[in-house]
Amino acid sequence: MKIDLSKAVCIIQSGHVVGIPTETVYGLAADAFNLDAVEKTFRLKGRPSDNPLIVHICSTDQLKMLAIDIPESAYQIAEQFWPGPLTLVLNKNHRVPDVVTGGLKTVAVRMPDHPLTLELIRQTGPLTAPSGNRSGQPSPTKASHLHEDYKGELPVLDGGISTIGLESTVLDLTLSPPAILRPGAIDPAEIFRKTGIQVTQISSGSSASLKSPGTRYTHYKPNAIVEWIDTIPATFLPDIYYIYHTMNPGIKKRNVISYQGNFEKLAQNLYDHFRTADHLSYRKVQIECLPPSEKSHLIGALSDRISKAIG
Ligand code: AMP
Ligand code: MG
Repeated sequence: MKIDLSKAVCIIQSGHVVGIPTETVYGLAADAFNLDAVEKTFRLKGRPSDNPLIVHICSTDQLKMLAIDIPESAYQIAEQFWPGPLTLVLNKNHRVPDVVTGGLKTVAVRMPDHPLTLELIRQTGPLTAPSGNRSGQPSPTKASHLHEDYKGELPVLDGGISTIGLESTVLDLTLSPPAILRPGAIDPAEIFRKTGIQVTQISSGSSASLKSPGTRYTHYKPNAIVEWIDTIPATFLPDIYYIYHTMNPGIKKRNVISYQGNFEKLAQNLYDHFRTADHLSYRKVQIECLPPSEKSHLIGALSDRISKAIG
């Protein structure tokens, strides 16, 4: 059900959960300091309790409420990238309930780039907000996705379509050198260019990737089988949903999508395509193999999400 900002403030303050818009994906917001509200989020989403939540803030001053031993690099990075799709992992302040961090001694924090959600946080204080999908499924990038996932029963603040469409980059500043635990729209090259800070990328499956509990679970999966494709077939089968980004399929059909090199649009629409494929009962989604990461700052994140959807 759609609600306005003042209603969203009331619901959060009375310890309940609200669907909120962000520029990455829609989230399930709760008061980060209210244990019951945070536990409700885990239950609603069906999220394993050891997969921690990102806490969303509206000003850098709020960092001290959540973290301790905050390095200078956190402020340098925040100045360049916040509000924006970059989450920082820092040592946790004891005031943050352990349930928020899945028992970890660190906390993940981000300032989202969405005016409605920033105003909400101004009125409620820091909010935990995992991606709003049910655990394992594609994230919501529109209010209507949350209405479908929760059968219209979740109060949702509608802020339009998420402009980026993929979850934030997660950067762990407690590691030396700092390491990206989850790729997103902000890549190591951009972090270096804007701050001079060198960060490494942890490859999924490595033992270091255990630092990010979320990597242990299946993610982003539609019911349809997802596969890579590296050709344009002679005939397009009616039960396959084809997504091309570079090759030109030379045909316009409901199940043949083409982005002609526009990786921003592909990222924005990826989960919507997964959801559409399921609504229309396609058996498979075939996605053109991605080019090397130099082609776009989004390739790392797209490759991560699509590979996990393939499983
Ligand atoms: P989501 O809420 O679906 O965007 O997922 C949040 C991601 O942030 C998951 O991959 C979590 O494992 C990761 N995350 C949250 N808190 C921490 C933390 N303290 N340390 C490492 N990763 C974290
Ligand atoms: Mg998620």
